[in-house]
Amino acid sequence: MISTSGLTLYGVIGHPIGHSLSPIMHNASFEACGIHATMQAYDIEPDSLKDALDSFVNLGFGGINVTIPHKQKIIPYLDFVDEEAGIVGAVNTVKFDGRKMRGYNTDTYGFLQTLEPLRNSVEGGRFVVLGSGGAASAVTFVLLRYFRTSQIVIASRKSSSARALVDHFKAFHNSRLATSSLDDPALARVIRDSTVVINATPVGMHPNTKSTVLPGVEFRPGQTAVDLVYHPLETEFLRTARLAGARTLSGLEMLLHQGARAFELWTGQTMDVAQMRKLLTEKLDQEGNNEVNGL
Ligand code: NAP
Repeated sequence: MISTSGLTLYGVIGHPIGHSLSPIMHNASFEACGIHATMQAYDIEPDSLKDALDSFVNLGFGGINVTIPHKQKIIPYLDFVDEEAGIVGAVNTVKFDGRKMRGYNTDTYGFLQTLEPLRNSVEGGRFVVLGSGGAASAVTFVLLRYFRTSQIVIASRKSSSARALVDHFKAFHNSRLATSSLDDPALARVIRDSTVVINATPVGMHPNTKSTVLPGVEFRPGQTAVDLVYHPLETEFLRTARLAGARTLSGLEMLLHQGARAFELWTGQTMDVAQMRKLLTEKLDQEGNNEVNGL
């Protein structure tokens, strides 16, 4: 065991990890709460995941955030996986409890908090989730468990992946889950008739800011478009929706709230979300063309 002079170490792991915003958010929160701790980003190649986890345990880490491509693959190494992470099939937060590793999914909480202020205007509507990876799974879980919906359409570039996600949630017995292929011409009409459209793909993320997962698809006033991508804060997907009069929400809200929940799990203390929103917005504005990705 390496002595760290009472300093508790935290990390965010991914591959690639880029200039992650998590250390900025958590280090500022540790300082604000008077906690002697620090977080750093670690680029961990998929084949090195187990070795990296062993090192974190040996070094007495307090916790880690986990991002692409480790969210699913980490599960077999953990001693405990909480109910929501187990259902979603992805872990984005690990708490080290002595030598035990406990896995959680705080993306679900992050997305719930993002949508909660709109509950009254979106409940009962049709939701379209674009993508079928880990984030799409967290979003679909939140919609199934916490919101009343008339239909949830999962649209993916491979309809087999969308079908696999629907099958994954069959225990919810929700006959209103449907699938589509992203290139199905009928999807444009489904989007126009929907209440909320959520981009859960990385399309539009810096530096490919001119890309959108739905080229040519029109939004309309009264709809809500949510992008899980937060760099840039206004993606092409959100810009198109805003210009058509739709309400837009960037991925920054989810990032903040998943971080706040992880912070609480690790430290038992509350993150000042408003303060962190200000800090990260400034950081994203400054970053401009620099690379920011991962959590
Ligand atoms: P993932 O597990 O790798 O899944 C990515 C999904 O996007 C897959 O369905 C993939 O389709 C699809 N996709 C990738 N490139 C595409 C393209 N060019 N056209 C159409 N579909 C494409 O990743 P994830 O964990 O779900 O993350 C997805 C995005 O959400 C990332 O940008 C991530 O940063 C963001 N996210 C944000 C937050 C937040 O706090 N704001 C939290 C979690 C995730 P295939 O299966 O066909 O490859």
